[in-house]
Amino acid sequence: MSVATQAIDGKAFAERLRQRIADHVPSVEHRLGRKPGLAVVLVGDHPASDVYVRNKAKQTVEVGMASFKHALPADTSEADLLSLIETLNHDNAVDGILVQLPLPKHINEAAVLAAINPTKDVDGFHVINAGKLATGQSGFVPCTPLGCLMLLKDVIDDLSGLEAVVIGRSNIVGKPMAQLLLAENCTVTMAHSRTKNLSAVVKRADIVVAAVGRAEMVEGAWIKPGATVIDVGINRVDAPEQGVHKTRLVGDVDFASCQGIAGAITPVPGGVGPMTIACLLANTLTAACRHAGLPDPIV
Ligand code: NAD
Repeated sequence: MSVATQAIDGKAFAERLRQRIADHVPSVEHRLGRKPGLAVVLVGDHPASDVYVRNKAKQTVEVGMASFKHALPADTSEADLLSLIETLNHDNAVDGILVQLPLPKHINEAAVLAAINPTKDVDGFHVINAGKLATGQSGFVPCTPLGCLMLLKDVIDDLSGLEAVVIGRSNIVGKPMAQLLLAENCTVTMAHSRTKNLSAVVKRADIVVAAVGRAEMVEGAWIKPGATVIDVGINRVDAPEQGVHKTRLVGDVDFASCQGIAGAITPVPGGVGPMTIACLLANTLTAACRHAGLPDPIV
């Protein structure tokens, strides 16, 4: 039996979220006597990172916050980067610090993330925040899984008791996603590159979150009819139909073959992607509220 598959509009949701954040900013600014501030640190020339950082800065300013960009050369030493982080940790104008990943190979990523003051760790990658998420305490939740959860809650009234399968176990998406779903009382299975018979595991799921990085790997035939599918993957593939040397973005899920089977699914682009920066702004607002002694914002 074919079901009508809803395409989940992450772009529109993210736009509404940014508007709610923008509405909230003035009261926090009034209390702090300054705008909430986000510092973004970029090391080296990584074309994709450059685009992300520019978008983050633009959207930060659009919601009324201050954006501080620190672009360092590729040969910056780890000690110099740690020293900048220490300065930002003590800078009263900075509520959130984000170090754009990946870092050049000569810099120890874990050491850099560990140096960020956990109360300014709006990416939620510090082990203290990972530990807080795992133990049900309030800290900062990584932006992409937080955005996925918001989209899920928008289409499903009660997640409690549902079977969720998360494909991918990275520290930035898969693991925190599984923790969030567990906190919503889902029965959570984490699948990964060593999982046997993945299609059968996915078939059980009421909720599928794919965070793998393999173009259109998850097929419609794997999906339980009516399930909600969140596609985190961003993969660039050749698009000869659009012309020579043309490419396009696809997710980890074969969107077309899920039509008529999934109850709802996020498209790529326009699904999870726009939620990530919106959630970064939400986390920065939360950090600013905490620094101001205000309750966490409900956005
Ligand atoms: P990662 O490479 O760190 O992790 C990939 C995970 O997929 C691993 O845990 C691995 O075990 C699993 N995996 C690999 N091959 C598999 C297979 N054949 N079957 C099952 N599992 C397999 O990737 P990541 O950083 O978690 O990102 C995943 C995807 O999400 C990428 O496409 C990335 O570009 C995208 N992403 C999107 C956003 C966004 O804002 N929308 C943010 C972060 C990541």
